[in-house]
Order: sequence, then structure tokens, then C-alpha cells
Amino acid sequence: MNAEIISIGTELLLGHVINTNTAFLSQKLAELGIDVYNTSVVGDNRKRLLEAIRSAAARSDIVVTTGGLGPTVDDITSQTISMLLRKRMVLNRRVLKDLENYFRFRKMKVLTSSVRQAYVPEGVRCVRNKVGIAPGLITKYNGRIIICLPGPPRELGPMFENAISPYLKKRIKGTWVIKSRTVKLASVPESQVNKSVKRLLKLKPPTTVGIYAKAGQVELRIMAKAKNEKDVSASILKIKKKIREKLKDFIFGYDEDTLESVTGRLLTRRKQTIAVAESCTGGLLANRITNVSGSSKYFIMGLVAYSNSVKENILGVSKESIEKYGAVSQEIAIAMAERIKLLAGSDIGIGITGIAGPGGGTPAKPVGLVYAAIIIGRKKILKEFRFKGTREEIKFQTTQDILELLRKNI
Ligand code: ATP
Repeated sequence: MNAEIISIGTELLLGHVINTNTAFLSQKLAELGIDVYNTSVVGDNRKRLLEAIRSAAARSDIVVTTGGLGPTVDDITSQTISMLLRKRMVLNRRVLKDLENYFRFRKMKVLTSSVRQAYVPEGVRCVRNKVGIAPGLITKYNGRIIICLPGPPRELGPMFENAISPYLKKRIKGTWVIKSRTVKLASVPESQVNKSVKRLLKLKPPTTVGIYAKAGQVELRIMAKAKNEKDVSASILKIKKKIREKLKDFIFGYDEDTLESVTGRLLTRRKQTIAVAESCTGGLLANRITNVSGSSKYFIMGLVAYSNSVKENILGVSKESIEKYGAVSQEIAIAMAERIKLLAGSDIGIGITGIAGPGGGTPAKPVGLVYAAIIIGRKKILKEFRFKGTREEIKFQTTQDILELLRKNI
């Protein structure tokens, strides 16, 4: 089976909103074994949308649209489907009830403009929107499946997972199974990964490997296609093993894993606790660690010791040391790690101090210079980083490398 995606919205054509829905749907459809042959963007124009749906339906088994289901006048999807099917718009009582409940829950009066959303083309199937108001629509046109989904990604995502994916799965039995697995690597440049798995990157379908460089990590995505689940899993496993043979030391996780989630799992397993004292990262490390559900088991405290007075008065780093070595120095990073570990009574203490820029650098201590200290029991891991990039990039890269160091040492 094959599909096309049409994203609707003038804001997308103008580049005001980045089209993440197409990326999301392309991935999800591929996981279901549905080939996406074409994607397009149409502004809020009924005639052009009608044309786009007609020509997509002439080529593909499934047409998925996103956006334009809302209450405003530029939301044209339902109207266009009614023109396509030559069906009138009728009130759907269940959608109206959901809509009334939505407003009641928020203690708001039902807006007349919103009631428009309860009118849908006669005979189409409505899909419940559990996050917003606009229902999704499913219909058949010339034997093709047409699916209309809301524009906001937070509405589209759950609707696809809860309703559309099960609906499509029922209709694609017996066709191809496509699966993907992402291998995640840190502390290794893209070029080195590329060199190590050069032969795998040249593989042709049904099994392929793609390389993607992301902020502070590299990802290898294995895609495999086969007639059944067993064969597809075997192909993925075979490639995964080959990647492990070459790059084992750099692999920190798979698929949804993040450095913070993997590190969190290790800390939980080892029953170790952690505290962090951050200067230049401004709390980003604590934020990332606590983004993981269950982090209260191992995260004791985080302190943003931005000014020297906090380093001195709260952390107890000596004024003399700061004067002697400078606030951005290995010695101060160690002192911060030691003191926060003591204050929190944790097994691990981390201290970070550096210059995130763009100002504040000197020839001896340039922008991007970061000192970190990780103290695990009696073990001290000291690191000097020299990053390039914007303030945000330097902050992120610092936390990325520290999490990787921590993962390797606990
Ligand atoms: P609503 O009920 O909120 O009006 P809708 O189905 O009418 O939903 P649109 O009005 O087309 O959706 O878009 C609403 C918002 O959703 C847009 O302003 C944009 O922020 C986001 N959005 C729409 N399409 C996309 C897309 N393809 N990728 C990412 N975000 C999108």
C-alpha cells in the first residue's frame, strides 16, 4: 500500500511554521509498512486543496491531510471533503457533545464559531480528538482511503497513535512489514562512524542504514522490510550486531533512549545518588536529569552557582581559590563538585564552570572553555572541554559530554 501526505496551511507555505507533521506521519506510515510516495503543502485555499486531494487519490491508496480542521474561516478541510464527496455538511451529535464537554471542563461558554467543527460531511467517520476539539475524518473516495487530521502536532500525534494506526493496521494485513531501529552514539565524530560502517551505509533496500549527525550525538538508523515480523527482526538484529562489532564503545542506547534516561537507569540500578553544582550551564544539566520520570530516586539536588558570591557563601568554595585560579578553572570545578556532594550527602557530585559566551572570553580562557569535575566516591574525573558554537550550543554540548562521562564511569 502507498500513501501521500498533504499538509494544509498558508503558514507552512510562508515558512512561519515548520512542517513537523509530515515528518511525523512519514515515519509512522513507514513503520506500518506503507510507502509514502509524495508529500505536498497547500495553502488555505479550497480550490487548490480539492485539486491536491483529487490528484493524490488518483495515484495513491491512502491520502492523509493535516490541518485546516479548526473553527476559523481559513479552516477549509471539512468543506473541501464535502465538495469532493458531494455530500452536505451535517451536525454530528457525538462531536458536539465532546465539544460541549471540552468547554464545560474549562468552565467556558461554548463558542458559536467552535460549533462549526461539529458539522462534518455526511457519511464520513469522525475520529475523536482527546486533546483538542476538531475531530479527525476518515472516508473513502473512488476506493481510496482519505484521512484528515488536525494541524496541531499535540493533537495529531495521539490521534494517529490511538485511532489511525489501528485503523490502518487492520487494512494492511499480509503486506510488507517495515521496522526501524536507531542506534545512538556519543563522544564520536560523524566522520569516524561513517568510516567504521561505510559498507553498511551503502546497503540497498530491503535493508538500509542511514547516518544522522545530531547535537552532540550521532545516530545510525536501520530500516528493514520483509514479508513477516520474524524476518524483519532478524535483518535488523544482523545489522545491529555488525554496528556493535565496530562501534560498541560509543553506543549509549537505542530508539527513544537519551543520555539522561540511560544514565538514570544505571544510577537506579546501582542505587547511586547525584547532586550537581552548575555555573555556565545554568541548570541545564539538572533540567535534563529531572526530565526523566523516576529521577527522584537518584537526583538529590541541583544548585546554579552562577555568581562568585554563591560559589563562596553557599557552596563554601574559598575566596582565595577563586582569586588564585579564577572562577573558570579545574580547581573550582573540583571544589564545586566536592561541596555539592557534601551538601547533598550524595554518592556523586558534579561541578561545572565555563564560558558560554559570546562575551567574556580571553586568549587564555576563550569562549567555549568548560571545566567539569565528577566525583564518584573517591574517584575524581576531571575534564577540560573546548567547544565551539552559540551560547545554547555550548551549554547543551557541555551537558551532553558530562552525561556521557557519567554513563561511562558509574
Ligand atoms: P485548530 O483546531 O487548532 O485550528 P487545525 O486542524 O485547523 O487545528 P491549523 O489551523 O491548520 O489546524 O493549524 C493549527 C496550528 O497547528 C498551526 O498554527 C501550527 O502551529 C500547527 N500546525 C499546523 N500544521 C502543521 C504542520 N504540518 N506541522 C507542524 N505544525 C503544524
